[in-house]
Amino acid sequence: MQSVPFHLAGRPAEGPDPLIVRQPYDGREVARTSYADPDQVEAAIVAAAAVADRAAALPAYVRAEALDHVSRRLAERAEEVARLIGAESGKPIRWARVEVSRAVSVFRWAAEEARRFSGDLQRLDTEPAGQGRLALVRRVPRGPVLGITPFNFPLNLVAHKVAPALAVGAPIVVKPAPKTPLSALLLGELLAEVTEPDGPGTGLPVGMFSVLPVPDDRAADLVADPRLPVVSFTGSGPVGTAIRRAAPDKHVTLELGGNAAAVICSDWSSDADLRWAAERIATFGNYQAGQSCIAVQRVFVHEWLYDGFLPRLVAAVEALRTGDPADEATEVGPLINEAAARRVESWVDEAVTAGATIEVGGRRSGTSFAPTVLTAVPPESRVSTEEVFGPVLVVARVADDIAAFDAVNNSAYGLQVGVFTHSLQTAFAAHRGLRVGGVIVGDVPSYRADQMPYGGVKGSGVGREGVRSAMDDYTEPRVLVLSGV
Ligand code: NAD
Repeated sequence: MQSVPFHLAGRPAEGPDPLIVRQPYDGREVARTSYADPDQVEAAIVAAAAVADRAAALPAYVRAEALDHVSRRLAERAEEVARLIGAESGKPIRWARVEVSRAVSVFRWAAEEARRFSGDLQRLDTEPAGQGRLALVRRVPRGPVLGITPFNFPLNLVAHKVAPALAVGAPIVVKPAPKTPLSALLLGELLAEVTEPDGPGTGLPVGMFSVLPVPDDRAADLVADPRLPVVSFTGSGPVGTAIRRAAPDKHVTLELGGNAAAVICSDWSSDADLRWAAERIATFGNYQAGQSCIAVQRVFVHEWLYDGFLPRLVAAVEALRTGDPADEATEVGPLINEAAARRVESWVDEAVTAGATIEVGGRRSGTSFAPTVLTAVPPESRVSTEEVFGPVLVVARVADDIAAFDAVNNSAYGLQVGVFTHSLQTAFAAHRGLRVGGVIVGDVPSYRADQMPYGGVKGSGVGREGVRSAMDDYTEPRVLVLSGV
């Protein structure tokens, strides 16, 4: 099998050590690529640093056209890209298609934002000392960005790092997850199409981006390198914490894990309400086999609705179609590897030993774990307190909405929460009182629009993504004060 090149400073390259990518469902080889060696990593950093000033001065129309090009090309190759995502990550094809269409939008929004991103004008004559003065606040790139991404959205989370960087004129070095590097490499291919397409001075300059597979044990060198002053990391908590410690002087954004909750409030009581909530929670507790940072994990149900809701949820989970991710009908595929499936199994076993009941699921077969609903789970069980990152729902009854909100807040994480209510008052109470990055009313916590600010508090991270938020993050204000105006 031919090796897929990676992208070093916008040009295809290969490293000495092979990286074989396998389909998590059946273990077959999907493709092989290679890891960048330390000299290649150094070359990518040198190129990014060297081009930073030119990149910052690129006209907005050049940046916007490059981003529009990538968006268009992704849309043209959507089915091929979706199949690649499915093959490398085990994501069911229906969800892989959603991921591609989201990445298409991310690049399109970034192009739009690039056209209007400028800064602002502030009057200073609000005090006598400022009379006749005006401040022009321009946002300038902080410098080259290091983007580190996880396996579970191998295209869209790379898009969330690359598109805002290009939109503000910051070079970027991306280190994709070694388990799923292929869609990031394909994105690199599309970016290469707009890299000096008609010679120097056209399109993106060489050095503006690199996409380099790097083994975990060598990634620390990238994190510590002062020539990459911005680090945007999406991944697990322990790695995020290590990165923050290793780069105390850098501008670091951390998008980490969660154990997202859904709350069924006392007024969410009609048949149609309960059916909708059950179907959404079943789907979004199990989509991507639960491997999403905002997959529903904990479900708190008002006690007078509990007995009506639970059988509906169990039936909806039972009805989910599991199996081969390439199959059009499949809703739930495998986990990323057998170790991940075994970990989920051991956490479920631990909860059952401590007194939990399996309402449905609970079985592992190779890399797959059956969609599972647990009740009567002791609060200290890891399926409640940690991020399961598997297809497991933990359902509990609560006395009222206040008790539910307390239970949501009783977590080391705080990414998003879904609050099923019709009451505006309850919605505002949730927004005021829940310590999370986002409250989704009338739906699951798994809802994410790619342009909105997205991120968490507590163990779920620091800073926000979403195209515009990331553009703000990758830049800093520089003020020009004009006198006598
Ligand atoms: P991970 O932390 O194992 O790996 C993420 C990335 O970090 C990979 O590219 C990996 O190679 C790299 N890495 C590993 N060790 C490193 C080190 N010492 N220095 C620098 N980089 C290193 O995470 P994963 O298993 O790929 O992804 C799952 C996690 O990502 C879950 O916890 C999930 O919640 C989280 N996640 C968060 C968001 C969000 O937006 N908040 C989105 C998706 C996934």
